[in-house]
Amino acid sequence: SGRWTKAMSILKEFEEKCATPIGKLRQVADAMTVEMHAGLASEGGSKLKMLISYVDNLPTGDEHGLFYALDLGGTNFRVLRVQLGGKDGRVVKQEFTEVSIPPELMTATSSELFDFIAKELARFIATEGEGFFLPPGSQRELGFTFSFPVKQLSIASGTLIRWTKGFSIDDAVDKDVVGELTKALNRQGIDMRVAALVNDTIGTLAGGKYFNNDVAAAVILGTGTNAAYVERAHAIPKWHGLLPKSGEMVINMEWGNFRSSHLPVTEYDQALDQESLNVGEQIFEKIISGMYLGDIVRRVLCKMAEDAEFFGDVVPPKLRTQFILRTPEMSAMHHDTSQDLRVVGSKLKDIFGISSTPLKTRKVVKELCNIVATRGARLSAAGILGILKKMGKDTVKEGEKQRTVIAMDGGLFEHYTEFSSCLESTLNELLGDEVAHTVVIEHANDGSGIGAALLAASHSQFW
Ligand code: ADP
Ligand code: MG
Repeated sequence: SGRWTKAMSILKEFEEKCATPIGKLRQVADAMTVEMHAGLASEGGSKLKMLISYVDNLPTGDEHGLFYALDLGGTNFRVLRVQLGGKDGRVVKQEFTEVSIPPELMTATSSELFDFIAKELARFIATEGEGFFLPPGSQRELGFTFSFPVKQLSIASGTLIRWTKGFSIDDAVDKDVVGELTKALNRQGIDMRVAALVNDTIGTLAGGKYFNNDVAAAVILGTGTNAAYVERAHAIPKWHGLLPKSGEMVINMEWGNFRSSHLPVTEYDQALDQESLNVGEQIFEKIISGMYLGDIVRRVLCKMAEDAEFFGDVVPPKLRTQFILRTPEMSAMHHDTSQDLRVVGSKLKDIFGISSTPLKTRKVVKELCNIVATRGARLSAAGILGILKKMGKDTVKEGEKQRTVIAMDGGLFEHYTEFSSCLESTLNELLGDEVAHTVVIEHANDGSGIGAALLAASHSQFW
């Protein structure tokens, strides 16, 4: 019928606009490398902030003692404690708890958010028991993983540049987030020193390196997306401080804010951006990360319903609700291998109130999920190629035995199998067989928590 044809032409047009042929991915990778250079050259030189982390030494394995970590970066926050036992003992014992952040706190005030966090931390500290040892006369120390763009002032201080991922707390912007946390700790009567402030990418890199010395970069694909890597200090023109003894500096790219004319951006992406809390920002993130993928799918379905009556004469009203289709649900539909696509059917019913959909409709929905996930995964791979190029690891040097490990974390990478396998195969395709054998993607499960604790340990005032 005419409607079906119209719906298919909407789908087809979207698919074409989302196309990521290998040549385009190479252009994206090259643009990423160029922007990395520009961001390192001068403050504000690029959309990529290329933030200096003040981490010039990654963990060695010698770290020991009791350390806490707190990870705030998205929907949940985690609190963790580890007892580190040096080279022999390694991670002797670790415990953690995860708390979801009440949505209203994401747009409340700074003190409301940090008081909530401090209260949960106090509760967790109170359960510290056997196997954890705090030397008499010392104070508990904490590594704070804060996964938003921060202008770092030292290893343990930094001001919030802006919120992302649905957070919007105006009075915290430009404030030292460690100061805000410390004030809340004091209000709760918690005796604890914040020894390191790190981004989740830096934490993942540190945690990854602790377990595997070949780790050279970290990528997060969760609610948002970001990457960090180890740069040579003399390749950072904007750094005017002393050159670190190691000769290296970890850079937090804030790659979620990358944009390029080579990115395949559709009308749906533009509308999503326009209706977001951070218009014009985080364009790369809005195409590839977990917070947004489901909503892109919803927007295309909505257009098909409005212009082609794809779900019948009336447009199901819930199709117009922003973020109602979350990425885990999209992923469940995409992974549906049943004959009658019953998962797709039940999701459409439960989420949008669209009942008894015919099989051919379900097939289209699944294909739409595939288009959106494939674009995100392939662009993520292109971003990684950009980093490898910047590090000079995209070619094999004659006679050199080389291995580059990229530590990956985040719920999107971990749970969305179609996404992660597409990312890995695309990266291999981009690198070619010979180089692909030297590059390994390693899933660093919650490495950022341990990483932050390790960085707190190496910046401890007690040893
Ligand atoms: P955060 O990024 O908030 O720190 P995570 O790394 O745990 O936390 O990532 C959570 C995000 O991962 C969710 O917001 C969601 O977008 C994505 N995600 C979680 N589970 C799945 C899933 N089964 N399929 C696809 N995406 C998922
Ligand atoms: Mg996280």
